[in-house]
Amino acid sequence: MTFGVYQEKLHYEKTNPLLWLYDKLFPLPAVCPVCMKPQARLGVCEKCRAEVLRKRSMYGQCKRCSSFGVYSDACRNCREWPAYYRGNIAIWPYQGAYKQVIKEFKFHNMPWLADALAQEVLLYLPEGYELLVPVPLHANRLQERSYNQSELLVRSLSRMSRMPWQNCLERVRDTPHQTGLGRAERLQNLHNAFDLHKGVNVQGKKIILIDDVFTTGTTLLSCARVLHQHGAKEIASCTLASGQARF
Ligand SMILES: [Zn+2]
Ligand SMILES: [Zn+2]
Repeated sequence: MTFGVYQEKLHYEKTNPLLWLYDKLFPLPAVCPVCMKPQARLGVCEKCRAEVLRKRSMYGQCKRCSSFGVYSDACRNCREWPAYYRGNIAIWPYQGAYKQVIKEFKFHNMPWLADALAQEVLLYLPEGYELLVPVPLHANRLQERSYNQSELLVRSLSRMSRMPWQNCLERVRDTPHQTGLGRAERLQNLHNAFDLHKGVNVQGKKIILIDDVFTTGTTLLSCARVLHQHGAKEIASCTLASGQARF
C-alpha cells in the first residue's frame, strides 16, 4: 500500500460563507490536542508526529495489522485473516497522551476533534480504494454518546480526501463490552453482531473501514467479513491507534 497521496488533495472549505461564519463564532482552541502546545490552529504538531515515528521504531509495528510491539509481517492478531482483508493501518500507539485524546474524542463529547484526528489518518490513507465505511455503534450506544466517533472521522476524512463514504453497516446486536475478553471470546461475542444496511450495494467495491482503536482486530474482522459476504472485493482498515500485541 502506498501512502500520502490524499494529503495533496486536502482542500479547505474556504468558499463556504456559512462555515466561515461558524468558525468565527465558535473558534476551536488553537493547540496541538496531544501536547496542548499553542499553535496557529487546532492540529497535531510536528513534534508529536515525530514522537510517534520514534515509538514506531522503538517498539516495532506489525506490517499487516499495525499492532505495536511486533517486528514481523503478521502477528497473532492478524495471522489468520482472510486474503480479502488486506491489513490495518494504525497511526498512534494506544498509550499516554495519544490514548487520552482518543478517549476525550469518544467519551467526553468533543466531536470537534474529528478534523484534527482525521488529518493524521489522512497522511496514511492507502491508495487504490473507493469507499470509506465507519464501524457502526449499536443504536443504544449511539443514544448514550450522541455520536459515533468513527462516523465523525469518516465524514472529515471524506471531505479531506474527496473519497465518498457510506454508512453501509449496522450493529444488529448490542454486544457486551469487549474489554477484558480474550481473542476467542471477543470473536464469539461479535458473532452476527453486524449486518449490511438494507438496500446498500457493496458488490465489487474496494473499501476502507475506519475505527478509533484496534485492539485484537476482531471488530474490524467481523465488519470486513460482512462486507465480503455481500460481494466487496477488497477491504482494508485505518484506525487512530492500536494496542500492544498479545503473545
Ligand atoms: Zn504536540
Ligand atoms: Zn499483526
